[in-house]
Amino acid sequence: MATTAPHTPEGRARTPGGPGARERTPAALAALVPRLREICGADGVLTDLSQRRVYESDGLTYHRSTPGVVVMPTTTDQVASVIRLCAEHGVPYVPRGAGTGLSAGALPHSEGVLLVTSRMRRILEIDLDNECAVVEPGVANLDITRAAAPHGYYYAPDPSSQQVCSVGGNVAENSGGAHCLKYGFTVNHVRGLEIVTPSGEIVELGGKAPGAHGYDLIGAFVGSEGTLGVATRITVSLTRAPEKTVTLLSAFTSLDAGGQAVSAIIAAGVLPSAIEMMDALAIEAAERAVACDYPAGAAAVLVVELDGPAVEVDAQLERVTALCADAGSFETRAASGAEERALIWKGRKSAFAAVGRISPAYIVQDGVVPRTALGEVLGRIAALSAESGIRVANVFHAGDGNLHPLVLFDDAEPGAGERAEEVSGAILDLCIEHGGSITGEHGVGVDKACKMPRMYDDASLETFDLFRRAFDPAGIANPEKLLPTPRLCGERPGVRTGVHPLVQSGEAEQF
Ligand SMILES: Cc1cc2nc3c(=O)[nH]c(=O)nc-3n(C[C@H](O)[C@H](O)[C@H](O)COP(=O)(O)OP(=O)(O)OC[C@H]3O[C@@H](n4cnc5c(N)ncnc54)[C@H](O)[C@@H]3O)c2cc1C
Repeated sequence: MATTAPHTPEGRARTPGGPGARERTPAALAALVPRLREICGADGVLTDLSQRRVYESDGLTYHRSTPGVVVMPTTTDQVASVIRLCAEHGVPYVPRGAGTGLSAGALPHSEGVLLVTSRMRRILEIDLDNECAVVEPGVANLDITRAAAPHGYYYAPDPSSQQVCSVGGNVAENSGGAHCLKYGFTVNHVRGLEIVTPSGEIVELGGKAPGAHGYDLIGAFVGSEGTLGVATRITVSLTRAPEKTVTLLSAFTSLDAGGQAVSAIIAAGVLPSAIEMMDALAIEAAERAVACDYPAGAAAVLVVELDGPAVEVDAQLERVTALCADAGSFETRAASGAEERALIWKGRKSAFAAVGRISPAYIVQDGVVPRTALGEVLGRIAALSAESGIRVANVFHAGDGNLHPLVLFDDAEPGAGERAEEVSGAILDLCIEHGGSITGEHGVGVDKACKMPRMYDDASLETFDLFRRAFDPAGIANPEKLLPTPRLCGERPGVRTGVHPLVQSGEAEQF
């Protein structure tokens, strides 16, 4: 997978725990291999370099590191035994689902264990009475919908990677998708979790009944990027399939007009299940890659999906068509059937990979801004692009302000990669400046850990760290991800020591 093309792979490869890709499993780790084989079976432990290299990056191929050893457990007990062994020997471990992450969250540790859930992919239960499913973490997102569809249900969170990404990875990243505008993110659909903590304890959080009392530990675990433990069993809500779904494509001669249509739709009180926007460059790429038949000459297209009771959808369709026309749309068409609907979505969902058709290399950025700031931020991105000579294609979830600028460059051109990175970083600054965030849905991982201090002050980062250490005092669970550890990205890593600033100022007590 190469959603982000590595412009100088060797020069830029980063290896937590040591420089360069490690050829041999380190001796301390090699000593644990017989025990790991006892736990996971001989075929569940990979030590050959060629096999370990398969796992050296996730979807963000820009960061690479060869894992010390790869284990593929098949049960919760095996996961717990592997983690207990790691805890006993102070060995770091990194959980990995399908490896589609775009923030290097599953980047292996060269002196640690990569714990892959790909052999834990059973759908354990479809419980229609309670409208939920119980699954193992390695199950692909779309497989839940496939299992529920014959009963008139589906699983709502739908990242564009849904055919392959794992539910465990979705939980760890709190993944979103096109339909999150109406249905919410992964966190809104997880009712229960069985997790293995970084000390190897098996813990149940929540269950089939929605809602819980006390601290929302499921809420804390979802989005924790493997730093609080490994999810080994997941109970998710199933959503009843709507009576009617209509997908609409609307074309504009400017991004601004498309943006005005989005605001008008929301202001009119219509809540589409999705509003996606693509600019001219992204349309060009999608057309070349999948011939999606978007209107010629469009500077922006909106993909709007409406679902619900048929009468409501019909009324909304009329309203949205009129609002798009008022905002300046020169063509709006509703898909006439399943085939046309699929083609409209194919254009949108293939957009990341499609830019490979118009640029030798690119960086997928991910940031979010309040919806009202979209117009201003897109204008500033266009200005950045013009100043730097770096093209930026925009594909985004317009309904919730989640931007995915694709920063295009030619890796054969000296300095182009660095300029693209600068533009990419400047876009994140723009997001923060406008009250948004450095990541909308792709997580922090290794890639953005050093950017966390741009959003959070010291006290907040210390609080996050205290929370993390409550689960993982030894610092072995996916180290160097999510939080800038060490705080200043460059200090020596280690367990947090010293007094929390809030404790020091007398605002909080530590027990
Ligand atoms: C083409 C493409 C389109 C994408 N579209 C979207 C999108 O629309 N929305 C979106 O949100 N994301 C999207 N993504 C990003 C990615 O698919 C999601 O982040 C996804 O949730 C990652 O799942 P995974 O199984 O591949 O996880 P991995 O990449 O394997 O891991 C991701 C993180 O989860 C942790 N982890 C994995 N399994 C577990 C577990 N069982 N317990 C604890 N921690 C675990 C890992 O340590 C890592 O930190 C896209 C990616 C690609 C390549």
